[in-house]
Amino acid sequence: MKDSLWQAVLGEIELTVSRASFITWFKNTELLTNKDGVLVVGVPTVFVKNQLERKFNELIVDTLKKNGIEPTKVEYKIHTKGKSTLHKRPREETVMVVAPQQQTEAKPKSSSSVRHSYRQGLNEKYTFENFIVGSGNELAYAACQAIASAPGTRYNPLFLYGGVGIGKTHLIQAVGNAILAKDPKAHVVYISSEQFVQEFLDAIRYKKNTDFAGFYRSADVLIVDDMQFIAGKEKTQEEFFHTFNALHQANKQIIISSDKPPKDIPTLEERLRSRFNWGMSIDMQIPDFETRCAIIQTKATTHGITLDPGVVEYLANHVQTNIRELEGALNQLLAFCEMRGLQPDIQITTSLLGSSKVRPKHINAKQIIEKTAKHYAVSVEDIMGPKRDKDIVVPRQIAMFMLRSELHLSFPKIARELGRKDHTTAIHSVEKIAKESALDADMRTAISEIKDRLYA
Ligand code: ADP
Ligand code: MG
Repeated sequence: MKDSLWQAVLGEIELTVSRASFITWFKNTELLTNKDGVLVVGVPTVFVKNQLERKFNELIVDTLKKNGIEPTKVEYKIHTKGKSTLHKRPREETVMVVAPQQQTEAKPKSSSSVRHSYRQGLNEKYTFENFIVGSGNELAYAACQAIASAPGTRYNPLFLYGGVGIGKTHLIQAVGNAILAKDPKAHVVYISSEQFVQEFLDAIRYKKNTDFAGFYRSADVLIVDDMQFIAGKEKTQEEFFHTFNALHQANKQIIISSDKPPKDIPTLEERLRSRFNWGMSIDMQIPDFETRCAIIQTKATTHGITLDPGVVEYLANHVQTNIRELEGALNQLLAFCEMRGLQPDIQITTSLLGSSKVRPKHINAKQIIEKTAKHYAVSVEDIMGPKRDKDIVVPRQIAMFMLRSELHLSFPKIARELGRKDHTTAIHSVEKIAKESALDADMRTAISEIKDRLYA
């Protein structure tokens, strides 16, 4: 229960923050206890603890609320996951970043343990093998493979840019993983520029500049994700400039990703911009329809499921701009079917993902209640009121279901929107409609008609 709650929270957070932030700050956390509204979250390092407290507490609390928990307090506690998991997943355990200040604050750490964690920030799940190549990413893929086979010799630096969720992080992490697979001693460092900025500021604050500089300048491969976050951070850019030069002169490989090309990153220092143009810049695009289909099939297969071509095509059409969202839609479908023991088919897929394609932001709770009432030809007062006739109860439950599915409101909030005090009714209603709509085609049609009117 604790675990599935936290997994749900992490799942939502993963969609909100950058992949690099997620891996760095959230991935190795767990929910330790949840008593009387006080939640204790276990985190791997003091560095993560500080960051969650300072930067992400609000996001965590909000996401908990969305999942029906109203915490009075969230505490972060340093907690090493059971040693037994260590040898099961040795690589993941080293995902944590050893920040310079952590080396002094945490319990004495021998320098050998620092030297040992060269898989810094890398997630082994990103490989070349599970990256599907097609139009939009083939050039980037080829360049990354070339680099992996001979780091520091060609395309240095490699600068990959493109929109969110199209596979930049996956590819540049795959390079790091491939290099490490060949040469486990290689010092591969993966970091988001956001984190680079943060560590740099901490290094100055704790007067550990030299450790910081030394650490990055001793990399064999430096991978910096989401470079755009360095925009406007003058001091950090200067530091990065020196790191860049030191590495480049020593023929060490540098790989950079960003959401836009160097020329479009505002307040990127001119000298950095010109350095980035020394190597190769590649524009990544969202893969075409066929490639998106292949990605969906492959991902479904890893879940042990073979999807009908119709379902695959629907998904590939449904999400056209972002592979992360495509995965999200697939996971939503698979989870929905798994919980109910159903085989995903086109009907379930369309009703589940239905008209969420073009979703303007201005939908509010009141509109959902009104449209639902209208669809069932009952009054809003009745839906909000105490009547328990079936004609009223079903629309009321559907309204609750839609407040959850469309606006992701927390259960207490859903209850309040319908003028109710007790949120267990909301939980019950949402569950009930989710279950029934999976079995009842009329109900699915009703829901998608209401949605159509809502988003028309
Ligand atoms: P970006 O860094 O560009 O925002 P990511 O690399 O985080 O995007 O990709 C988002 C998700 O989509 C990841 O889970 C990644 O594994 C997946 N993905 C993207 N492109 C592909 C691809 N060509 N093949 C397989 N998975 C992909
Ligand atoms: Mg990314």
